[in-house]
Amino acid sequence: LYLKALEIQGFKSFPDKTVLTFGSDITAIVGPNGSGKSNISDAIRWVMGEQSTRVLRGGKMEDVIFGGTAKRKQTGYAEVSLVLDNTNHLFDMDESEVMVTRRYYRSGESEYYINRRSVRLKDVNELFMDTGLGREGYSIIGQGRIDEILSVKSADRREIFEEAAGISRFRHRKEEAERKLERTDENLVRINDKISELE
Ligand code: ATP
Repeated sequence: LYLKALEIQGFKSFPDKTVLTFGSDITAIVGPNGSGKSNISDAIRWVMGEQSTRVLRGGKMEDVIFGGTAKRKQTGYAEVSLVLDNTNHLFDMDESEVMVTRRYYRSGESEYYINRRSVRLKDVNELFMDTGLGREGYSIIGQGRIDEILSVKSADRREIFEEAAGISRFRHRKEEAERKLERTDENLVRINDKISELE
């Protein structure tokens, strides 16, 4: 599995459609300060479902949309597509390539696609879960992440090993089921209250 291409349009400092293609070897991105190098890694985080504006180095989600310059009008939406090689079928899909797309409009509307099929954010999260990619993966190592790996807190380190071992998916499902159970318990209490009121 490797990153084949990244298409950016209307995202941060990229108003025009920009396509970056990567080989299976090492790629380094170089450029002067402020030229948009970090915006490229922000785009990768964002398309993989990042929801934290702090992580994306902005104040609100709208800040990811190209905000305009003296010469150019702002754009109405931001769109990023990530193309990943899937010849070894790490992703449970028949296709040899997986394309994930995220679009965000100034109105606040979000759209997600997997191989051009409209999906939910949950589907994008599930696609990346246990692959080491994705929002909680370890494929993007920022400064804070290194601290986490070196952290003395075993719970932090455990999460990284769980992702590598491929069991994050099950932990998430367990947490989801526990939340549902809690809600059901609360509903039961409420119903019992109603019953005793009626009796
Ligand atoms: P450095 O080496 O200093 O870290 P860099 O190459 O990583 O720089 P970035 O931080 O990726 O640079 O890019 C910063 C540039 O992106 C700034 O010029 C900023 O104005 C521009 N930028 C960020 N968000 C937007 C936006 N929404 N619209 C237009 N430009 C933006």
